[in-house]
Amino acid sequence: MSRRVRASQEMREGFGLTQMEPPDAVREWFETLFNRQPFTDAAIAYFRTLRLEAGDLSGAHGGGFWWGDQRLVQVRGAQDEAAIHELAHAFWHDARERGSNARELMNAVVRLADEPDPRYRDAQRLAHDYVHGIPTQPDPSSPTGFWRGMLVEENDWEMFAGLASGCMGDMRRLPPYVRRFYAGLFVGAEPARPSEPGPRRTS
Ligand SMILES: [Zn+2]
Repeated sequence: MSRRVRASQEMREGFGLTQMEPPDAVREWFETLFNRQPFTDAAIAYFRTLRLEAGDLSGAHGGGFWWGDQRLVQVRGAQDEAAIHELAHAFWHDARERGSNARELMNAVVRLADEPDPRYRDAQRLAHDYVHGIPTQPDPSSPTGFWRGMLVEENDWEMFAGLASGCMGDMRRLPPYVRRFYAGLFVGAEPARPSEPGPRRTS
């Protein structure tokens, strides 16, 4: 195993760790992740500009953070699902500011919550929880005493990242009206090309 280094301030705050993986080991792990997961080349080029940190890559510990102001993606351990989730946060951090993307995504997730197509069943269930909450999941900070989901807080960023890791970037598991928000992040999310050029986009 590589020699651990002193943990960053964010690693201490996020995970309470005093040591973390050295930068070369982290870069190497993320590069292999980029290879085995369905990220676009453009997304990978963007990820390479970010600070990347990992606590302990000797095990598949879950958990991670996106520190937006630090442009830092941080994972606790060697778990693809957590890394996909935090990298999706990093991607959406800027994408959500474009036009009415954030609002449109939430609208799409509301539609997904009632999606009848069985091909999208797993995503539909996630969306249903995001929109309606989980009455059996206690949440002391909630006025109802249970987790009320993400729509009530207009938390488009957790919806985006949750669906990304929920389907492990496999765009066949999302209907086209949700898939389109992942264009540029995951392979297979680009909308089908119209046979003729459409009106010019203004946003
Ligand atoms: Zn998240």
